[in-house]
Amino acid sequence: MATVTAEIIDGNKISDTIREELKAEIKKLKQEQGITPGLAVILVGDNPASQVYVRNKNRACHKIGIYSEQHNFPGDITEAELLDLIQTLNSDPKIDGILLQLPLPDFINENRVLTTILPAKDVDGFHPINLGKLFIGTPGFKPCTPFGIQKMLSYSGIKTDGAHVVVVGRSNIVGKPVAGILMQKGIEANATVTICHSHTRDLPSITRQADILIAAIGIPEFIKGDMVKQGAVVIDVGINRVDDAKSERGYRITGDVDFASVAAKCRAISPVPGGVGPMTISMLLYNTVQSARQRMAR
Ligand code: NAD
Repeated sequence: MATVTAEIIDGNKISDTIREELKAEIKKLKQEQGITPGLAVILVGDNPASQVYVRNKNRACHKIGIYSEQHNFPGDITEAELLDLIQTLNSDPKIDGILLQLPLPDFINENRVLTTILPAKDVDGFHPINLGKLFIGTPGFKPCTPFGIQKMLSYSGIKTDGAHVVVVGRSNIVGKPVAGILMQKGIEANATVTICHSHTRDLPSITRQADILIAAIGIPEFIKGDMVKQGAVVIDVGINRVDDAKSERGYRITGDVDFASVAAKCRAISPVPGGVGPMTISMLLYNTVQSARQRMAR
């Protein structure tokens, strides 16, 4: 097996730094303005992965002093009930952020529910108003995973200015917004961005041009060493469960990048787990604190 010489971009370590900074900011907000940032998390149904995500988000809030409340509903909740709750949270002054854990049951119109969240409390950054602001380059909430990727690059000293960033994946929650963020005019951006997807012809010829390659595909270990330029930076967004008889749980979590063959070639790589995942939660906390700062103006 090839030796790994690449720098490992440690999402846990960067997250710790960001969370310490936020903790200090929250303390100041409380002392100077009497404001405790508040997050409401809504969970519908009993999807085990969603339950874990929600638990982790609540824990992360408590650790740094964000008030959080959880609203759990059975999978047969009506859309009207869900919309009612969101309206109540929209006008609740102690709530700065509303997070609706996806996916929702099929019979609920996800778009209608997400767009009912007040854009000023949409700390997940999924509302079309916030996505529109992201693309035109005005202040708004950026979706947490793409925002986390931007911060991860910046905290690791990886310059995006003028770099060719290739994004594989065009989802509304990762691929498109990360491209939108990194192509903006400004610091931690100014990249030349190419987006690839399932209809892209000769994908390896494009991924091999990337100075920074971002993989958000959802296929375990899809990006192999021969798809990457020597010395590139690789960000692996994927979270995939693959069967593993050697693991106690019977499965392991792997990314969209074949770590061994890619790490042997690139300059820096984010691992899975311990890469983009913790950054996503950190940026949720970040957005909630920013929202609390604007509470008086709401
Ligand atoms: P998605 O299924 O919505 O999108 C996948 C994208 O990959 C699509 O745009 C598709 O065109 C592209 N694609 C599929 N097959 C391809 C192929 N053969 N060649 C080129 N492109 C191809 O997925 P998503 O929601 O963007 O998530 C992607 C991955 O990131 C998943 O593994 C998901 O679990 C993970 N994820 C992680 C985090 C995190 O916090 N770390 C957050 C969101 C998503």
